[in-house]
Amino acid sequence: MVVVKCCYPSAGFFNLARGNLGAAGLAPPPAPRHAARMKTTPTPWPEQTGATSFWYRQIGTPKPRAPLAGDSDADICIIGAGFTGLWAAHYLHRADPTLKILILEAEFAGFGASGRNGGWLTGGFAWNHDRYLAQSDAAAVRAMVQAMLGTVEEIISTAKDAGIDADIRRTDELLIATNPAQLARMQAEYQSRRQWGESGLALLTAAQTAQRLRIPNSLGALCIPNTARIQPAKLVQGLARMVEAQGTRIAEHTRVTAIHPGRVQTTRGTVTARTILRATEGFTARIPGHGRDLLPLNSAQIITAPLPAAVWSKIGWQGYEIVGDFANAYCYCQRTEDGRIAVGGRGIPYRFNNRLDDNGTPDDETIRRLIATLRRHFPAAAMAPIDHAWCGSLGVPRDWCARVEFDPDTRIGSAGGYVGVGVSTANLAGRTLADLALNRDTALTRLPWVNRPPRLWEPEPLRWLALRGMYRLLNAADRAEEKGANPSALARLGAWIKNS
Ligand SMILES: Cc1cc2nc3c(=O)[nH]c(=O)nc-3n(C[C@H](O)[C@H](O)[C@H](O)COP(=O)(O)OP(=O)(O)OC[C@H]3O[C@@H](n4cnc5c(N)ncnc54)[C@H](O)[C@@H]3O)c2cc1C
Repeated sequence: MVVVKCCYPSAGFFNLARGNLGAAGLAPPPAPRHAARMKTTPTPWPEQTGATSFWYRQIGTPKPRAPLAGDSDADICIIGAGFTGLWAAHYLHRADPTLKILILEAEFAGFGASGRNGGWLTGGFAWNHDRYLAQSDAAAVRAMVQAMLGTVEEIISTAKDAGIDADIRRTDELLIATNPAQLARMQAEYQSRRQWGESGLALLTAAQTAQRLRIPNSLGALCIPNTARIQPAKLVQGLARMVEAQGTRIAEHTRVTAIHPGRVQTTRGTVTARTILRATEGFTARIPGHGRDLLPLNSAQIITAPLPAAVWSKIGWQGYEIVGDFANAYCYCQRTEDGRIAVGGRGIPYRFNNRLDDNGTPDDETIRRLIATLRRHFPAAAMAPIDHAWCGSLGVPRDWCARVEFDPDTRIGSAGGYVGVGVSTANLAGRTLADLALNRDTALTRLPWVNRPPRLWEPEPLRWLALRGMYRLLNAADRAEEKGANPSALARLGAWIKNS
């Protein structure tokens, strides 16, 4: 084991262990090219990788629940115990406490993106308004914007009523622009959000931004109110306990292998249920017959050790805002309750043929890019020890717009394709699935994301080539824009691939 001594401002020297660490789940040694660079610039490397996420390292992996013990039946069978499945169970129970609800979970409740994400609770409408407009009207799209905004309060108040402590802190979202091209995107985003009915937004000048948070080269920020920072694993574990206390049964380590009207096959037996709701988001492509529905896009994070007060005094960030930027390949950051910085981004976003990560272990290149982002945006924390790096998959539909669907004939429904904005969206999806499953005609079931016509992803190798090409262009555009180029043709080409 090699020990690298690393100087950390105002905090003395930290011993960072690296190398020869595989079986313990720690990071493999850096690639040779990187190692050469490290001779002159000691770079912190995550103490641990994978293990689902840092959030579970913080609270401990939950005690396993029993798997399905042979054939069973239920009124409603939900597949997947992430935010979507758990919220659906909660609202179904609230509407009809006599329902027998069974959730089937391949691993453990909260194993997926719900227990790994960046903890941004935003209520933002992250998709293409015009695409929803094409199948509805402006009033319906505005209604969806408002419904999304309402999710923040709904989640916070439900967690409070259920006694769930998820480090929830109400705050603003700050999206920073660090070059003129990003500034142009910031202004366009501001106008677009206002046009679609979001209120309370503010464009901050560089000086106003610096009063909140000091990020080098910041030219300004879009400030979005009514958001919150959460510890996601605490929230999803709390929700699982809440629905269990309501009488919903969660069968863990029970993988669904096939879905038919009225019947779900699993590795542990067959479940008969009149209504079936699939809530498998980034894992959907693994289910037979669903390989081209939702592309599993990888997103990854690193997290520092708790930072000393001297570092925070350089950075600011006393408002614990959730922080991102206007790069084409953007990042998302949070200041945790115990004073760490978590930085997230896409890294290597898609693996050939829908391949998923191994229990949250990211690749070295992704870790290097995230460390570079940490250093660029938070130089005062550049040499902070990095406690953990992890990743997960989120579901991306072919048109990059989330949807909820329910077929009243087969009584099979599903929700997903949140494209990285799932903490809030899963709540709206859960409420909507519950109404659909109960045959209710409500304001939620009339929202324009319900039963939008699906579009399948292209077969391989086309989708791998398209995703790879798109992210290469977006990264190249970011590099050009950092050098002062206008919103670059590369970015437009990347967006064209995405929108075609
Ligand atoms: C690294 C990362 C950062 C993110 N950051 C944010 C953020 O800051 N804010 C935000 O809003 N969104 C964020 N997202 C997206 C958000 O976390 C997800 O959209 C959301 O959690 C999806 O919830 P879900 O319940 O639909 O899916 P998941 O949480 O993925 O749950 C699906 C569940 O289904 C189970 N499952 C899959 N297949 C089967 C099967 N065959 N049988 C039984 N069970 C099965 C899985 O084990 C899993 O537990 C992030 C995502 C990632 C990966």
